Amino acid sequence: MENAFVSVAELSRRLMNREVSAVELARGYLERIEAHKSLNAFLDVRPEETLKQAEAADRLIAEGKAGPLAGVPIAHKDIFVTKEWASTAASRMLEGYMSPFDATVVRQLKAAGMVCLGKLNCDEFAMGSGNENSAYGRVGNPWDANAVPGGSSGGSAAAVAAGLAPIVTGTDTGGSIREPASFTGVTGMKPTYGRPSRLGMIAFASSLDTAGLLAHSAEDCALVLGSMVGHDPWDSTSVDMPAEDFTRDLEKPVKGMRIGVPRSWMGEGLDAEVRASIDAALDFYRREGAEIVDIELPMAKLGVPVYYVVACAEASTNLSRYDGVRYGHRAAEYTDIESMMKRSRDEGFGAEPKRRIMIGTYVLSHGYYDAYYLKAQRVRRLIAQEFHETFRRVDAIACPVSTGTAYDFGANADPVSAYLSDLYTVPASLAGLPGVAMPCGIHSNGRPIGLQLLGEHFTEARLLQLAHAWQRATDWHQRRPAGY
Ligand code: GLN
Repeated sequence: MENAFVSVAELSRRLMNREVSAVELARGYLERIEAHKSLNAFLDVRPEETLKQAEAADRLIAEGKAGPLAGVPIAHKDIFVTKEWASTAASRMLEGYMSPFDATVVRQLKAAGMVCLGKLNCDEFAMGSGNENSAYGRVGNPWDANAVPGGSSGGSAAAVAAGLAPIVTGTDTGGSIREPASFTGVTGMKPTYGRPSRLGMIAFASSLDTAGLLAHSAEDCALVLGSMVGHDPWDSTSVDMPAEDFTRDLEKPVKGMRIGVPRSWMGEGLDAEVRASIDAALDFYRREGAEIVDIELPMAKLGVPVYYVVACAEASTNLSRYDGVRYGHRAAEYTDIESMMKRSRDEGFGAEPKRRIMIGTYVLSHGYYDAYYLKAQRVRRLIAQEFHETFRRVDAIACPVSTGTAYDFGANADPVSAYLSDLYTVPASLAGLPGVAMPCGIHSNGRPIGLQLLGEHFTEARLLQLAHAWQRATDWHQRRPAGY
């Protein structure tokens, strides 16, 4: 299929000029999804529903009523509920669940005329960093059969990297867009917490969960982001801000910008080749006239313990709704209501959600609440303050996404080592900051290397501008894994 790795911008142009129809595009991607089924990136594909949406988009285009995204295919992480596709959060608990409504983000992108290709695999309830926790099997990394695609939006990242969709949604609670983007050589955008609606996003940790995008470039993220954010009166943490055009600053020079680099993140523990690739990107920004300044983020070191207290506490509360009564899995055999709930939860949840429910219940319990949960909330505030103070001196922060490239399947089987690997992504999540991850090199092990850009609340346009400047000058984002 000749359109497989084409940008959203170019697909939109071809659709408007009638060089290709939405139905042809959808068919092409559906064929590729089928051909690369072994990646296990998709959990639910329903060609008849996709083609219905594509036909509707073609009609709008023919009538001259179509917006720029009409007919452009997209796929959604299986954390977003959808009316026409099953919504499972990659859990047995929600196997085959059909939602009576679309998540706000899904509804908005549908209203923009985008055509849904199906639902994407992920870690169960978005808990994980390698997509090894899905109840429906792991997802392959198109770059290397032994490497994880990253998580929890692993299906999302693999789908873009393999050319199975030009752009996809993901969710980022503690790094789940940025880390898989980095592990698969694609561009990921996590907006400011509260900017995209959380309505219809199956909840993991409500004070952190943020919808976002993964695509081939920052420009493509900018084109679609405008249609996915906006105030939602049905989400109490939705930010009431006027819509903005995220492409407006893309072509502006980055001259004069101040980019902070947390020096301690660039030292011990960071893979030498990852460091060299990030340094090359920093040199590029310097040559473009940006000022690179050293910063320190001493509180951010506490991000991992704080995140795993807060996220597990919220997860234990959110997952209590799966009791076998209202929706989700119900055990076939039980004696009374208590055994029904216990057995349903035991059968429905995998090991990682169970672990987090136990941690969360513990830190919220009487006698431990002050020592763990309350203390974590206080430190969370200090981490956020440290970022806000830093952003008075710098326009953005550039740093690694991860200490290395994608790791091998099974290498992070110990939960503590898996949690520790989130050290560069969770601090920004705790502060609700927007972030971009984009490719900046390929390691001698053949796996992509990512660079992370972080900004103050609501500076998405500036982060996309910085990322676009790099992508205009380099072709890392255009590299493709062999065999795709
Ligand atoms: N890896 C982190 C976790 O396991 C982040 C997950 C996420 O952002 N959804 O919680």
